[in-house]
Amino acid sequence: MKLLENKIAMITGASRGIGRSTALLFADNGADIIFTDFREDDNSKSLLEELKGKGVRAAFYAADASNHERTLEIAKEIEKEFGRLDILINNAGITRDNLLLRMSPADWDLVINCNLRSVYNYCKAFTPMMIKQRSGSIINISSIVGINGNAGQCNYSATKAGIIGFTRSLAKELGSRNVRVNAVAPGFIETPMTKQLGEQALNDWLKAIPMRRPGQPEDIARTSLYLASELSTYITGQVLRCDGGLSL
Ligand code: NAP
Repeated sequence: MKLLENKIAMITGASRGIGRSTALLFADNGADIIFTDFREDDNSKSLLEELKGKGVRAAFYAADASNHERTLEIAKEIEKEFGRLDILINNAGITRDNLLLRMSPADWDLVINCNLRSVYNYCKAFTPMMIKQRSGSIINISSIVGINGNAGQCNYSATKAGIIGFTRSLAKELGSRNVRVNAVAPGFIETPMTKQLGEQALNDWLKAIPMRRPGQPEDIARTSLYLASELSTYITGQVLRCDGGLSL
């Protein structure tokens, strides 16, 4: 029996990076996959094909996760097409790094909306289905910088800390309905998001990671698999750090 047999999972911002790895691992474990990203492009097309090739049902929606109306439209379509949702992974996220002295209001608002409003949007739109089912697992992708902070990331770390408060509050609201809500806090993971930081940044981070390697998207996907599956049926409101010891 596969860990996610007969489950339906929705992952936001999944065309590449951590979301993509999660979609593929969840499909390998038997889940049908619905995923979103800003736009339909080669990445989203190839992921859709790869998922279908694994013999699961797969669907893609082009959507900005910070757009509330678009989120509600998608929820309606999913209820019609799939009838239920078992797992929601709020993964979509961006960075617009700068010291606060140079951070524009536009970059503050953009990051808050993409990273935090999106979590409100998807939880608000999909929890009614989970409450009706009396089951569900929501996984919000935070970051260790939401716990420890990081110079140059006031906007980003505020969203990732906000996600932790949101996760704990929603876990308290939905526990009695058997809907679990947890957060994953990745450390330094090799994805297109961190590639843009360059070799020097990677080497600096490596010195601080006790396991002496950067994380891979698959490390985070496996952590989410645990929280999505029956292996974690009594775990809610937690923040699971997956960082090779970086935040110790
Ligand atoms: P990534 O490689 O940049 O992938 C993120 C994906 O999300 C991209 O495909 C992006 O679309 C999409 N996206 C961003 N905002 C969106 C929105 N508003 N609506 C729809 N799609 C959106 O990043 P990643 O490293 O895989 O990160 C995934 C999550 O993990 C993020 O929440 C990030 O903050 C978190 N995280 C990552 C690290 C790390 O070290 N990589 C560490 C801690 C936490 P585009 O391609 O169009 O930009």
